[in-house]
Amino acid sequence: MDCIFCKIALGEVDTEKILETEDLYAINDINPQAPAHALVIPKAHFATLLECDDASLLGEMLDAAKKVAESLGIDEKGFRSVINTGVDGGQVVAHLHLHVLGGRKMNDSMG
Ligand code: AMP
Ligand code: ZN
Repeated sequence: MDCIFCKIALGEVDTEKILETEDLYAINDINPQAPAHALVIPKAHFATLLECDDASLLGEMLDAAKKVAESLGIDEKGFRSVINTGVDGGQVVAHLHLHVLGGRKMNDSMG
């Protein structure tokens, strides 16, 4: 499958990992929208959040977001965790991922 996040998971694209477990990995976003911007990505392919029925994996992703925030040094001042879903959600890469953004005050607008 031609999926960039599957390719990174399989080691076919060399990308530095901030964190890696059996089920997921985290990398820095290639086009950061904040001083710190990482992605927490399950190794299994789910096109969107709607396709993922693994509640335990979803919990692991949130747990990983905390660890990523700590390792990026944005845990103390705070950060934002976002999953974009589908067209209106602004999802571009069709492989489930959780954004972790920090290092600046986020806009009040959620949109
Ligand atoms: P989304 O709009 O939620 O689908 O976000 C996809 C994100 O993946 C964007 O912020 C991209 O900058 C990021 N991205 C795409 N390709 C890569 C890559 N090879 N390595 C790191 N981040 C990537
Ligand atoms: Zn994939």
